Amino acid sequence: MGIQYHGICKKCGKRFKIMDGGGFAFHMLRCNKCGKHKMVPFEKLGELHLRYLKGLNQPYSLATAHYDNLIKELFPGEPLSEDSYEAAIEEFVGKCRCGGQYRFNAPPRCPRCRCTDFEIDNTGALCYD
Ligand SMILES: [Zn+2]
Ligand SMILES: [Zn+2]
Repeated sequence: MGIQYHGICKKCGKRFKIMDGGGFAFHMLRCNKCGKHKMVPFEKLGELHLRYLKGLNQPYSLATAHYDNLIKELFPGEPLSEDSYEAAIEEFVGKCRCGGQYRFNAPPRCPRCRCTDFEIDNTGALCYD
């Protein structure tokens, strides 16, 4: 489940959009240099995601539980742990145009001055997917 909200940069005052967490059908990564968001749909990951589902002890989410169980039974690949799955995705996504690397745990960042110090503005926050 992801949430979208705004941050207000403490340095330059810019209000910017922040998206946190992935949805049912995608992951959300962020560039560790400029803070740009990168959405990665599960379907683009192909076998990688199936191997991860197979490695889980429980379904990824209630909504996909049926599908997840089917994968466990039918998919012949090797299960993948969460850590190696995330590392593999970061590699798959590659580098941002700014030269930074997309990461799961990169902090939100002001797009104007790249400062990571900001206030959270909940006005207009919404959940997606
Ligand atoms: Zn700023
Ligand atoms: Zn970047």
